[in-house]
This record gives sequence, C-alpha cells and structure tokens, in this order.
Amino acid sequence: MEIISVIPRGYCQGVVRAIQIAKNTVRDNPGVPVTMLGMIVHNQYVVHACQQLGIRFAEEAGRSRYDLLDEIDQGIVIFTAHGVSDEVRQKALSKGLTVIDATCPDVIRTHELVRAHCEDHGDVLYIGKQGHPEAEGTVSLSDRVHLITSCADIEKLNHLDHVLITNQTTLSLLDCRQIIDACLKKYPQAETASEICQATRIRQEAVMHLKDIDLLIVVGDARSNNSHQLKEIGLKSGIPEAVLIDSVQDLTEDMIKEKDRIAVTSGSSTPNELTKQVIDYLQEYARDPHWKLPPTAEVTI
Ligand code: SF4
Repeated sequence: MEIISVIPRGYCQGVVRAIQIAKNTVRDNPGVPVTMLGMIVHNQYVVHACQQLGIRFAEEAGRSRYDLLDEIDQGIVIFTAHGVSDEVRQKALSKGLTVIDATCPDVIRTHELVRAHCEDHGDVLYIGKQGHPEAEGTVSLSDRVHLITSCADIEKLNHLDHVLITNQTTLSLLDCRQIIDACLKKYPQAETASEICQATRIRQEAVMHLKDIDLLIVVGDARSNNSHQLKEIGLKSGIPEAVLIDSVQDLTEDMIKEKDRIAVTSGSSTPNELTKQVIDYLQEYARDPHWKLPPTAEVTI
C-alpha cells in the first residue's frame, strides 16, 4: 500500500489569519467578553480550541449573522473569515459592541467588486451555496445581488441589462465553470469575475492531477464546503472512491483494505495535526496491517 500525501492541503492564509486575530483579541483584552459571530472556521476542533481560550460562539444552524447578533450584548464581537454584510456591521456598532473583523482579504475583494458593480446600477449573479455564511454576507450587500445555487435559478431571473457573474471563494472549479457558462448563455454580454480563491484553486488542482489513485481521503468537517468540494473533485477526476472524514477515528478497515494507492488531503479549515495523524496511521498500517486506531490528536491553535 502506498500513501500519497497531497500538497498543498490544510490551513489557508485566511484561516491562519483569523485564528491569529482571535488569539490576539483574547490576549489583549483580559476580562472583556469575546464572542465570535458564527464558527471561526467550519471545524469543530478549531472551535473547541478557541473555546478553551475563553471565546464564546454565537452560532445556530439556520440563523443568520444578523439574527445571531441578538445573542451578543456586550464586549467584543469578532467577524469570521467568511465576511459579513454592511447591515450586520451596522447592527453590531449600534449595539455598542467593539468590532474585530477577521474577514479574509479575498472575501473583502469580492465584496468590493460586488459593491462597485451595484453602485454602477448593475446586477450581480453570485454563484454560491444557500445558507453558507460567505454567500449570506455577499448577497446581503445589495438587492441587486442574486444568489445562484444551480442552473435552475438562472431561469427564474428576468431581463437584466448590466450583469456581473461572480462566485463564492470556495466553490468547485468544475461546478462553477458549468454555472458560469449557463449564466452566459442567458446573459451573453455579462462580465465575469472568477473569485475562487488561490488557496481553494491550488488545493483542488492538486487533487485533479492525482494519477492511479484507488481512494481519496479528505480530512475535514462535514460542514466545510471546501472539504466537500475536494471529495467531489476527486470523484469527478476519475478517482473511484473518495471519503470525507473528521479525524483518524473515522477510518474503517473496510475503507482502506485492498487499496494499493491512497491519497490524503484536507480542507483549508482542517488543522494539520488531524491530517498528519491520518497519514501517519496509514503508513503504519501499510507496514503492519494491525487495526488499532489512536485517539484523535489534541488540536492546539
Ligand atoms: S478559503 Fe480562500 S477565501 Fe476562504 S479564508 Fe481561505 S484564503 Fe480566504
């Protein structure tokens, strides 16, 4: 059995930056309540490590960032790397909260692009995931932003004159291209701006270029969009099997037995300790196929 450790993988610059901002905020403000508006990244181990530092999280499936602000009445609120709308920022300030913004610079660039086009009386077709915080933040920037989750959404749109087609930063390169093409069919004069970030792009391309792999293991949280995309890209690129696992504890013998070449990658919100532990275990199994999984590694931030 050969284990291929896919490079690049794991934490992106935006996630490293958000974690550092969160740590600095706690360090520099002893005694002040610090609340993160939503999950810092979609990974339960990172969230737990932040909670150990004393950070509280305002998070509930199905509730918007705007509504979640009702849960925060004092202290500091940190916006996550996914970004927020202007309305959310205003509401936080009007509540008297101190705002610390950990929005990824790549998301800020998309916001600036979208704002500029709307101010120029244009409409934006924003390809993204329903309910994802980054999509929520961007779509709320203006009534002129239309969320496109699939080709079916394009059919519902009326005639639009001045159109920009853009997208969420963590989408699949393959799916996004398909939806952009469908948008262009309806609005052939539209401008396009592919906003899949460099970190997402190079992680997906590394998976697309894998050869003769029997199984792709993606280490990442089930809520992590970019981890899901890596798995889907693997399958669409011809890898016969791909799984998304949270940690080494999710490996099963049925998953890996009789596989000659196993590739391992991880989403940009996955701590490196978790991925390394999976690779180390598989290498050990390849040398001596006994079956005893170690407990999941302690994640520190
Ligand atoms: S995945 Fe891309 S956009 Fe999202 S935080 Fe990382 S670098 Fe920024």
